[in-house]
Amino acid sequence: MQCPPACLGAMPPALTVKPRLTRHLLLPLLLLALVLACGYAGYRISEGVGIRALAENGERQLELNARAVESEITKYTYLPSLLELNDDVRRLLQTPSNYRRQRVNDYLEGLNQRSGSLATYVLDTEGRVLATSNWREPSSFLGEDLAFRAYFQDAMAGRPGRFYGIGSTTGEPGYYLAHGLKQGERIIGVAVVKVRLDALEQRWQRARLEAYVSDENGIIILASDPARRLKAVYPLGPNTRERLARSLQYHWVALEELQPLARQSLGEGIEQVSFAAAGPDQAAEAVNYLQQSRALDDTPWHLTLLTPLRDQRRTAIGHALLAGVACALLIFLGLALNQRRKVIATRLAAREALEQANSQLERRIADRTRSLRASNERLKAEIGERRQTEAHLRKTQDELVQAGKLAVIGQMSTSIAHELNQPLAALRTLSGNTVRFLQRGALDVAGSNLQTIAELVDRMGKITASLRAFARRSDDHGQADLDKAVEAALMLLHPRLQRTPLIVERDYGPEPGQEPLRLAIDQTRLEQILVNLIGNALDAMARQRDRRLWLSGALVGARYQLEVRDNGPGIDPALRGHLFEPFFTTKPGEQGLGLGLTLSASLAAAAGGSLGVRHPDEGGTAFILSLASFTGAPLEQQPHG
Ligand code: ADP
Repeated sequence: MQCPPACLGAMPPALTVKPRLTRHLLLPLLLLALVLACGYAGYRISEGVGIRALAENGERQLELNARAVESEITKYTYLPSLLELNDDVRRLLQTPSNYRRQRVNDYLEGLNQRSGSLATYVLDTEGRVLATSNWREPSSFLGEDLAFRAYFQDAMAGRPGRFYGIGSTTGEPGYYLAHGLKQGERIIGVAVVKVRLDALEQRWQRARLEAYVSDENGIIILASDPARRLKAVYPLGPNTRERLARSLQYHWVALEELQPLARQSLGEGIEQVSFAAAGPDQAAEAVNYLQQSRALDDTPWHLTLLTPLRDQRRTAIGHALLAGVACALLIFLGLALNQRRKVIATRLAAREALEQANSQLERRIADRTRSLRASNERLKAEIGERRQTEAHLRKTQDELVQAGKLAVIGQMSTSIAHELNQPLAALRTLSGNTVRFLQRGALDVAGSNLQTIAELVDRMGKITASLRAFARRSDDHGQADLDKAVEAALMLLHPRLQRTPLIVERDYGPEPGQEPLRLAIDQTRLEQILVNLIGNALDAMARQRDRRLWLSGALVGARYQLEVRDNGPGIDPALRGHLFEPFFTTKPGEQGLGLGLTLSASLAAAAGGSLGVRHPDEGGTAFILSLASFTGAPLEQQPHG
């Protein structure tokens, strides 16, 4: 599991920083060491395998070349024994004479030419040269005493004389083969053939083979590299050096040692040696060889093959590089896989965290939904309660309006009765007069009286119709024509206006020719409000002579504001706060109920409007009725009957 940053933050800093630092510093070093180790292992393995392959190949080369050397040196072994068959040679050895010597000299010269050897000569038993193939040359061996030569001593002892040495007369190196010439069982002289072996060296050089042959004294007698010739392959003791110097086998050569810089045995007859060699810039550098030796048959000599390890080393370095690169690639692959694994693990952890968060969120949503549902239920219950309360309130309000109306009706009933009494009295008088005029036959006067009677009855009907309309229950919604409502209110108040005259100033539109103003309220309710407001103004101005009422209105946005202002005494500032309280009245006795303004305000509010009051500085009182206006919509005809 991943540790969140908060949990890392809680740990002591040393614990978090140190391992990361160590990992960042040590890991590259470790990986580098691994790459180097792989390279080294590659080098060692390649070197081992390469050396084994070289050794196997060298073994074959050694065998082939050993055979070649053996065949080269055995090619001449029969040659000295041939002289045994020659009568001239035998006679010369038995009784030497100049004539016989010359014959043998000529014979040997011819033989030497045919066989391709360096020199062929015959010694007497004292070791003196009796005849030789090179008798013509100034460096001829003729008469020379070679009794000290080992090959002579061996041949005299009846053994085949084999000897490599440098000629004491010519200073020329060569291979000497000696054979004791017998007369019956007695050795009467020695035949010697000196051959050159440098053909082998030339063959090696042509084949770019590095090889040498060392003799029984450990002296290199044949070498592909002339610099190695006549060097000792192992240290010579002082006695040996003295013996060799005395034998003049190697003439006066110093016989230095072929000393390798390093030597390491790799098995039987196999060694790894390094010799100093002049490099391209003449500086001495070590050259490594695989050295393999083998004894040559029929001689005490050894053939040594030197295989340079330069190419093998280059191959091993190549393999080391290859191994290092492969290792680095593997490490890179491993790191990439590890990184990929980490990324996948991180993704999985992130997905898990997301799923957890998701499920947590779902749980929370479920909880929240539950609580929302519960509060929704509560709200529904509350709404239900509110609706009930509202219905109850509406009912109460309606009842209040009705009660107010009834109160107004009660108030008005006296004046209405008075109003009706007058036409009734007039009706009685007119009807009595009309009867009398009919009896007299004065039909014109009777007709005029009947006309007046009909007008009086019409007027009485109008009075009762307005009262009925006022008393009727109505709803909160509807449209009212302001002009008609003003007319209806004034009509209702007509009896009072007759007693107390009033100048009404109208300034509430609409302009002539324009659509009538329509307000969002029931027609009757608007009339009822206006009756209350105008009635109150009349009451306030009852004791003054000059009574004026201003009805002014204007559209303010979507609302229409109608101001009903009088020039009455105004309202005492101490009482202003109580105006809209139910049953607040300053009117004496049964004149006031204190419901008019309360009712009017609640009727306006029920229609979405409001009723307020203003106390102008110039005196009087102004009530402001604010209602939504119905502009453009057709006005429904309101029934009044
Ligand atoms: P009521 O008319 O029965 O008294 P209202 O609610 O209509 O009840 O009026 C409450 C009081 O407000 C009145 O008694 C009166 O004192 C005062 N009032 C109302 N209109 C005016 C007005 N235009 N001028 C002065 N006083 C007024």
